[in-house]
Amino acid sequence: MTSKEAATQHAFAAIDSRANELIALSQSVLNDAEPGYREHRTAAKIDKWMLRAGLSPRTEVAITGIVVKIDTGRPGPAIAVIGELDSLIVPGHANANPETGAAHACGHHAQLGSMLGVLTAILDDSVRSALSGSVTFMAVPAEEYIELDFRESLRANGKIEFFGGKQEFIRLGEFDEIDMAMLTHTTAEGQPGVIISGAHNGMVGKTAEFRGVAAHAGAAPHLGVNALNAANIALSAVHAQRETFRDADYVRVHPIITHGGDSVSSVPSRVSMDTYIRAANIDAIIDGSRKVDRALRAGAMAVGGEVAITTTPGYMPSRYDPVLADVYRRNAEPIFGKDNVRTSGQRASSSDAGDVSLLMPTIHPWVDCATGNGHGIDYLVQDYDMAVVKAAKAMAATVIDLLANDAESAQRVLRNFRPEMTKERYLAQLRELRSEKTYTE
Ligand SMILES: [Zn+2]
Ligand SMILES: [Zn+2]
Repeated sequence: MTSKEAATQHAFAAIDSRANELIALSQSVLNDAEPGYREHRTAAKIDKWMLRAGLSPRTEVAITGIVVKIDTGRPGPAIAVIGELDSLIVPGHANANPETGAAHACGHHAQLGSMLGVLTAILDDSVRSALSGSVTFMAVPAEEYIELDFRESLRANGKIEFFGGKQEFIRLGEFDEIDMAMLTHTTAEGQPGVIISGAHNGMVGKTAEFRGVAAHAGAAPHLGVNALNAANIALSAVHAQRETFRDADYVRVHPIITHGGDSVSSVPSRVSMDTYIRAANIDAIIDGSRKVDRALRAGAMAVGGEVAITTTPGYMPSRYDPVLADVYRRNAEPIFGKDNVRTSGQRASSSDAGDVSLLMPTIHPWVDCATGNGHGIDYLVQDYDMAVVKAAKAMAATVIDLLANDAESAQRVLRNFRPEMTKERYLAQLRELRSEKTYTE
């Protein structure tokens, strides 16, 4: 047995010895879900685990994030293993918070268990002594891009600049000394195993406020300007753009009305809408954003009203690293079974892991261990052994593969990687995507 194989066996034994605790931690997070930048109780659980392991994590990074670095004492690449702290808001989900509706309908609670499983493995002396370089564990807030008004208020108060937690980590310099990054997500696609994804869509967020004039809805609607009609026309105009979207760009535009009027007896004078414009490349995102602005404006102009449009930088289209993915694949196959490690191409969803992937080799495998609709009321992780224990073993084995033998495998990944952009260019790109405009008839 090579020293790498021995280290992997020690890592698996360490994870197995705490499997029940790792699953219990994940389920405790599931049962007390908190959405992005509000994950205080969730973060406290991660902090407590790390303190008990004898570590001194940094807390309150980007409001609720937690970071701890395990250095092997030998020079070499720095790997980040990430877990996402936040939930969605899905009232009606079996594990939803009864007051806030917060629910882990995307399975991030299991990511925290698998991340701490990798931590448990790396802390084992027999594992650490076989490695070079370092492994930094990051519990990161706010992957789900929701509650745009709340995040806008955090921005206005100088608490954050960007809505995504990993974006904030990049801005704050948490990735400056990191060479490559990985996290494991859950999914429900009906074929137990793990999916190595090629890429995610990127996106921008947009809020629109249609402003009209209130008037008696029965006696004098001719004196009003109906903001709901403006929004309705705008939605139709958005739909009229869809035939101009190329299939190859994977464009998704999915508006919701967040405020539809104030009282039924008055002509609605204020109606709000949120939307994303997602696409597989930045040019298609910018093109789609421009078309949606045009459509929103058309609604306001048609009724003689006004629309204020705020565009917020969302997530970047991802480019997950194929060389790093191959290292993961060869370590995941013995754990999940060779036939159960699959590959997917472009995914139309978005993640701020995509932002990280532009700067450094990044992987974002999906463990197929849940049932129901992702982001829906019925999304439930069913197989916790797979979601937490096997996911942790696959990532721990990947980290060992990368950093054992003087980190020769990690060095090969780095030699083959060309970043899409520098951190400075990335931040500039995000800032260029932000705009606030008001159009009046
Ligand atoms: Zn999600
Ligand atoms: Zn997610």
